[in-house]
Amino acid sequence: MAEYKAEEFHRLYGIRKPRTCYYRRDFVDYTLMISIVALVAGLCFGFRHGMALVSYALCAFLFGTFIVRHGIEWKVPLILRRPQDVLYLFVYKVLNLKRQWFLAAGLLLLGNVVIAMTPQLPHHTDWMRTAAIWLFYAHFAGITLYRTRILIDHLAKKELVREILMQTPWKRTITGRTNITLEIVHAYATGLLTHIIFLAGWYLVLTHVRYSLLFLPLTFALDFWVEIKWYRVLNRWFYREHWVGHNSELEFLYLHGNHHDAIPSGMIAVSENGFLEGFCRSLIGQPVAYYSPLSVALFLSHTVWYDMLTHQYIPGIFPKLSNAVVKTTQHSTHHFGQLAPYGLGSKSPATRNVSALRARIVPQELVNAIELDEELTGFHWDNPTFRKTLELWERYGKRAPKPVPEVVAEVIVPSTT
Ligand SMILES: [Zn+2]
Ligand SMILES: [Zn+2]
Repeated sequence: MAEYKAEEFHRLYGIRKPRTCYYRRDFVDYTLMISIVALVAGLCFGFRHGMALVSYALCAFLFGTFIVRHGIEWKVPLILRRPQDVLYLFVYKVLNLKRQWFLAAGLLLLGNVVIAMTPQLPHHTDWMRTAAIWLFYAHFAGITLYRTRILIDHLAKKELVREILMQTPWKRTITGRTNITLEIVHAYATGLLTHIIFLAGWYLVLTHVRYSLLFLPLTFALDFWVEIKWYRVLNRWFYREHWVGHNSELEFLYLHGNHHDAIPSGMIAVSENGFLEGFCRSLIGQPVAYYSPLSVALFLSHTVWYDMLTHQYIPGIFPKLSNAVVKTTQHSTHHFGQLAPYGLGSKSPATRNVSALRARIVPQELVNAIELDEELTGFHWDNPTFRKTLELWERYGKRAPKPVPEVVAEVIVPSTT
């Protein structure tokens, strides 16, 4: 097992206050956060751009659902009580940057310098910009269609969604009287807005740099090289980001909290981000937005799709997560109210044999990501929340659901105040 130092991963300059959900008292901070989201959309896409207009509508809808779902309590917002935490937020992000981010951003910068110095070469930068925009919308449309397909299945089986969630810690939110249709549409709106704001970072990059058609084969190869190196540090980078997202209250309220405000469905997922969290991470975190447009479209489409698939913690509803995946990852435990695991939470079956090439592309740090949580938080793979998840899959994961037992097992309640 690798040596991990807790002080590197758990450092905070402000006050530590672990959070896993929003409360009525967060109303003013939520209002400010959702206003900033609308502002970011306007500034990045243009205030009258179609993506910005959709964002404003989603922000208005989510503002309304906050009031309906949590209520209103007037309180001086945390951002005014602890303004220094805004500075810390950026300090944490910068200090957590990995070598691969500097490599990707540096290669893009170098490419632009070379393009500027060699105007006589056939770079076809205008054509590349147009192609980049098309790839951007193709990615967005493809993922949105997939998200909509998930929405339709949830709406078609909404009573099953309620029945399953009532057997999890979500029963605190989903009661017999909850408007389950609103919860489902809220989850869809959360995912769609997160995706748009996440993409605002890439849009900002691709509309402010130049790409060369001549260099495309070289940049494509370099992107793959950086991306494979990135997988080696992805879990520790994500652990740190995610730990701060839950333990710094300001980060929870403004960056990560909305990812946990919606029901645990594939609809909500965009590479494990909240609205502004995705925007920040796409610019000051992951290297992907600095790759060539073709690489960005390929890598983002794969990671966003896979993240949606692996957030479907309501069994029996599209997209159906296989038993093998459910048994080898514990991010579900996190969405069912537990703070840990903070990392990607995967564990390789002991019997699994993988090829040398696959082992190179998907390193041990990713396959056995849970080791980081086991060492830093004392996480136990065999825990009551996970056992309950496996039980739900056993009952509902197949086509014909078995009847619900009269006595529902004890559930774990989120450990926050
Ligand atoms: Zn989280
Ligand atoms: Zn998640």
